Amino acid sequence: MRRKSQVRQSVAVSAVLLALLFILPLLVVVPFRTALFGRESPVDETEGEPFVSGDLDGETVLRVLDGESVLEMDLGEYLVGVVRAEMPASFQMEALKAQAVAARTYTLYKIQTGGNHGDTAEICTDSTCCQAYIAEERARANWGEAAEENERKVEEAVTGTDGQVVLYGGVPILAVFHSSSAGLTRAAGEVWLNDLPYLQAVTSPEDSDSIPNYYSRIEFTAEAFKQKVLAAYPEADLSGSVSGWLRDAVVDGAGSVAAVSVGGVTVKGSSLRSTLGLRSACFTWEAEDGKLVFFVTGYGHGVGMSQYGANAMAAAGTDYREILTHYYSGVTVEPYQLAGFTKRGEM
Ligand SMILES: [Zn+2]
Repeated sequence: MRRKSQVRQSVAVSAVLLALLFILPLLVVVPFRTALFGRESPVDETEGEPFVSGDLDGETVLRVLDGESVLEMDLGEYLVGVVRAEMPASFQMEALKAQAVAARTYTLYKIQTGGNHGDTAEICTDSTCCQAYIAEERARANWGEAAEENERKVEEAVTGTDGQVVLYGGVPILAVFHSSSAGLTRAAGEVWLNDLPYLQAVTSPEDSDSIPNYYSRIEFTAEAFKQKVLAAYPEADLSGSVSGWLRDAVVDGAGSVAAVSVGGVTVKGSSLRSTLGLRSACFTWEAEDGKLVFFVTGYGHGVGMSQYGANAMAAAGTDYREILTHYYSGVTVEPYQLAGFTKRGEM
């Protein structure tokens, strides 16, 4: 009897020890496992931390048309993709923040005014329709060695301005932007059909030395010029000497061509710019040996925020709010959210 109970006792002790042998390591490891992997899937070291939007941007969920497919993402995730595509990540942080706020504002303006995609999506990734957008993987491939730092900067520009929007009269503005101007931006009415009170001509501190192709030159043979212009303006009379084809240019305060007579037809400088593929409407021309040579300053339509101007302001110590209130007249920069766009799963 005694031996039996001794045996039973030692079996019990062994069992307890054996159990402890398995349980003890778990007691040590499990809390770490929870901390590491409890809420999120394992982190891929090469891709950095997954992006998490700020509280306000995270509340707004968008359907983003990307080619044939519709991607669902929150406003912050979408804006990171837009800033990656629309501004060099090497720019100053305050310029990147101004870009993030301009892109957020443009997005909300599009949604509020009905957008281009009906019931399919709020916005798309086509730069000629809505705004350019680049997914993280592709951006990293383009950036190469600078990928980690660039991605971190772009994400900070978005989260650091969470929910901030440019407002005029309390509503989001048409926050258009361009690459570089000729030292002055242009009023919307000089370029497009309608004037807008917040899109006026303002000074822009472009640092021409640091801007690639700030001054560009493009030449057309008489035949090439004729072909392009007649396709757009069939009524233009392009007979006689090349030197007489363009005349009576009306130049606006920013040095851009507001209007010009092309073969007797008066066209907007911005229209001729797109017909000929000039980098901006800030151009002069010369007739040389039966050719037309154009000298162009800056890049883009010249309306709203100049990205290189914003970068120069940021380098001089200006913050993103001041940059935005400089380029957009009479506006405020405030937190703003659209009603009716809720968290994922609640749509
Ligand atoms: Zn679109």
